Amino acid sequence: MATYDYDLFVIGVGSGGVRAARMSASYGARVATAEALHMGGTCVNVGCIPKKLYVYGAHYADDFSDASAYGWNASRPKMDWPVLKSNKDTEIARLNGIYSGLLDKAGVTHFDGRAKLLDAHTIEIGETQVTAEKILVATGSRPFVQDIPGQALLSTSDDAFALEQLPGRTLVLGGGYIAVEFAGIFAGLGVETTLAYRGPKLLRGFDEDLRDMMGTSVVHRGITLRLNATLAEVSRTERGALLATFDNGDSLETDFILAATGRVPASDDLGLDALGVEMADNGAIKVDESFRTSVPNIYALGDVIDRFQLTPVAIKEAMVFAANAFGGGSQSMNYDLIATAVFCQPNIGVVGLTEQQAIEMGHDVIIFKSTFRPLKHTLTGRDEQSLMKLVVDSATDRVLGIHMMGAEAGEIIQGFAAAMTAGITKAQLDQTVGIHPTAAEEFVTMREPAA
Ligand code: NDP
Repeated sequence: MATYDYDLFVIGVGSGGVRAARMSASYGARVATAEALHMGGTCVNVGCIPKKLYVYGAHYADDFSDASAYGWNASRPKMDWPVLKSNKDTEIARLNGIYSGLLDKAGVTHFDGRAKLLDAHTIEIGETQVTAEKILVATGSRPFVQDIPGQALLSTSDDAFALEQLPGRTLVLGGGYIAVEFAGIFAGLGVETTLAYRGPKLLRGFDEDLRDMMGTSVVHRGITLRLNATLAEVSRTERGALLATFDNGDSLETDFILAATGRVPASDDLGLDALGVEMADNGAIKVDESFRTSVPNIYALGDVIDRFQLTPVAIKEAMVFAANAFGGGSQSMNYDLIATAVFCQPNIGVVGLTEQQAIEMGHDVIIFKSTFRPLKHTLTGRDEQSLMKLVVDSATDRVLGIHMMGAEAGEIIQGFAAAMTAGITKAQLDQTVGIHPTAAEEFVTMREPAA
């Protein structure tokens, strides 16, 4: 029997890779990892964590302006971007250290550098070659930038996180998570912001009521919204600004263009093609229920398999992988009821089916819906509405979907996601005593179905 240096070699130490390495080591596997970029991957370095810190930063603009209605007289606050950027960088460096420490503590050997497979069991990292019985590709994804004239003038979310100075004006392209989150961040920080999306309504795939409210909300936040707008070309003006030209001939001068137009699996240049690892056209690695690729000892999970590009999903997949590969388990991943939040302002939180999906799946649905001005803003006068919506199956009374736009929607929906996982019915929501006065109590007090 062949002997290898390691039982498992994990390429990429993002959320999925680190969890897989640690869990596998806890089952007794000899594990090594390699990383070409940052310890902690996208989430820690150029994703969830710095994004949420910037969302907090941007939200202060609202807090300062709302404060006067509560009697606070604050002098005109001024945004000092380099302070926020530098504090964010310090926190990310701390987290990088924590991730390193977690691997060390788990007894995992880590290699800094880009790993490449020489054969199904041999990995090369710079000058070093090691062998492993199993290999796990957890290399994540990277921003997709559309191929148009002037493409090099487009920036990505990676660039946005690295900005040393805030632009005066920005154009955000896309209508998904990153586009609406960054449009909110820029606008909150005082940047003149335009959000341009190729379709008629933002956040495709979300519940239509939320999408409608999202459209109104961005405009209320001072963001210029251009719908049905496809960017055709970008050029630099004589004065050094950027000129974005749309396919209908409209143009817009700006200082920074963020292409938030999706992320693609980072599966190239790993030596996978040569080994015959099957991939989809967009580079997503094809895997079975156990995250095994078409080469039996090579596995993949997380963004690189392009099922759900979400940190908690990658972490869960990693736990299933490790339990099956080294813990003697035969678990499978359940992708139903994955709750998610969009950290636009106010937040969106959702779990389960949209009204439209439920109907398409043949459910006879009853909808409960509440739109209201949050208590806080009865004093501030801020033109911000909250939306809470329940999609209920009329035959079984089971709650099929819960949707919210409003302050802390992500925090609120997490709890309701647990209730839905436990199979909660509308009657059980009705039996639940509310916490007053909160926004969340709406979910347990809605009695009249929407028309
Ligand atoms: P999304 O898939 O959410 O959105 C991509 C957007 O870009 C869509 O509006 C899409 O339009 C548009 N688009 C795609 N291709 C083109 C093109 N060629 N020209 C113009 N527009 C285009 O991707 P994001 O980049 O926003 O985020 C990537 C993933 O990261 C998300 O799907 C999510 O899984 C994850 N993420 C999660 C976050 C969270 O949990 N809060 C935060 C940020 C990211 P259309 O809808 O018409 O296809």
